[in-house]
Amino acid sequence: MVFATGNSGKLREASEILGKGFELVTPAEMGMNEDIPETGATLRANSQQKADYIREKCGTDCFADDTGLEVDALGGAPGVHTARYAGEDKNFDRNMDKLLEELSRKEMEASLMKSMGIMPKKNLRKARFRSVITLILGGKRHFFDGILEGKIARAKAGKGGFGYDPVFIPDEYPGMTLAEISEEQKNAISHRGKALRAMAGFLKEMQDTVRIGA
Ligand code: IMP
Repeated sequence: MVFATGNSGKLREASEILGKGFELVTPAEMGMNEDIPETGATLRANSQQKADYIREKCGTDCFADDTGLEVDALGGAPGVHTARYAGEDKNFDRNMDKLLEELSRKEMEASLMKSMGIMPKKNLRKARFRSVITLILGGKRHFFDGILEGKIARAKAGKGGFGYDPVFIPDEYPGMTLAEISEEQKNAISHRGKALRAMAGFLKEMQDTVRIGA
């Protein structure tokens, strides 16, 4: 099945989560090296746009995921703009730096409000990753999603994972970022892990239905 991604971190995680029953092929391996468009206003629209693009170009069953980081104190930002938060070059380090700066600013505003006797919102660093997968099977679309709750760290920590992992502390591992836990631990709790396992369960059900019907 074609997985519409050029992100090696996502590919590694998906292969690990889906296991031996699946062989994942990337668009690059199908000879497509262009950037897949993602111009939608929501994660679901982007995920669908990427899957539709691959289906149209390759004519095969495929799936795509779109992931966003939602920070409560930033009104859900960066959300659908997560990949390009600090610019079009999708630079992981600059994205994280911008996020840490925005949150420090929010905290300074909050302490100023407190000094004026106004109670600011609590849990300014509360955040979540949300993944939406679009699977196209036999020309029909199916959607799966997964959420990981946590908070944004004060500084980057850890060398594992990719993207915003060094600044995201999942609720399941207080005090550790996603870049400090093992890939296996991340996959067991992650937004993408949940969405991919839901997709795998659906595919298994379809397979069993076909077998029973045969
Ligand atoms: P997209 O789904 O490829 O558009 O990814 C959106 C942004 O979220 C990119 O900057 C990714 O690096 C980041 N991202 C996606 N999944 C994860 C994850 O599991 N951990 C950290 N960052 C992620």
